[in-house]
Amino acid sequence: MLVCPTRSAVAMLFAALLLAHGASAEGALDKLVAAYPAFLVGHDSQTLQWKDGTRMPVSDGKADKAFDQKLRHPSLLDQMELPYPRGPLAAPPGPQDDPGRFRNVAFFDKIYGDCSKGQVEKKLVTVPWLPKSGGGVVKITSVNGVAEKLRAVSEELDALPSALKTYAFPSAGTYNCRVVKDTGNRSMHAWGAAIDLNTKHADYWMWSKGGYRNRMPAEIVAIFEKHGFIWGGKWGHYDTMHFEYRPELF
Ligand SMILES: [Zn+2]
Repeated sequence: MLVCPTRSAVAMLFAALLLAHGASAEGALDKLVAAYPAFLVGHDSQTLQWKDGTRMPVSDGKADKAFDQKLRHPSLLDQMELPYPRGPLAAPPGPQDDPGRFRNVAFFDKIYGDCSKGQVEKKLVTVPWLPKSGGGVVKITSVNGVAEKLRAVSEELDALPSALKTYAFPSAGTYNCRVVKDTGNRSMHAWGAAIDLNTKHADYWMWSKGGYRNRMPAEIVAIFEKHGFIWGGKWGHYDTMHFEYRPELF
C-alpha cells in the first residue's frame, strides 16, 4: 500500500516541531556554550558550566515573567529567548521584538568585567575606525576577540562606496559604563562590546514621535552581522546606529 507522501511529510514536520519545542532550551544553551568557547565548557538542564568551575543557574525559576521583567532581570534562558533575524527585515519589528536586549548582567560581567569596579576599561584596546576615510580610532574590549572582529568590520566598511560609508563614521562612541535608560539594565556599551555609528543618520525610538524609522544601509548591517554583531535596528525599541557583539544569537 502506498502512503500518501503529503500526509507523511506533514506528520514528519509535526513530529519535528514537537521535538524542536521540547529541545529549545537545550538548543539555546548549546548555542550559548558554542559562542563563548574561551569561557564556557558545557551545560545541563539547570546550570551553565564555566571553564573555571563556576556553575550558573540557567533559569531564575520564575514562570510567566512579563516582557518588562525580562528586560530588567533576564535569566540566561531569557537572554536566548528571542531569535535574532539575520539579513534584511521583511517588515518593521513588532513592539516586543527586541532580540538581544535581554542581557544577563552576571554572565556578561563574568566575561568582560564589571565596569563599576574598573574591570572593563583595562581590557579595552584601540582599533582604527575606517582609517582610509578619516574615521579616527575607537576603544573596544579585547576579550573574546571582539577588537579583532571590529577591526575586520572596519576594513570592510572602509571598502564601501562613500555614499554608504558616510553612515558608519565618525563613531558616536563605544565603551560607556552606563545602564539603558528605559530598563535600568546594563547596556553592552558597559562591557566595551558595542559601537554607535554616525548620529547624523540615527533613528532612536525614544527620540521619534512617529513609528519605526531607519536610514542605516543594509550593506552596513550585513557586514556587522557577518562578524557576530547584532543591530539595534531590529528591535521594536529601535536604535539604528547601535551594534553589539552577540555571537550567541546567530
Ligand atoms: Zn549604542
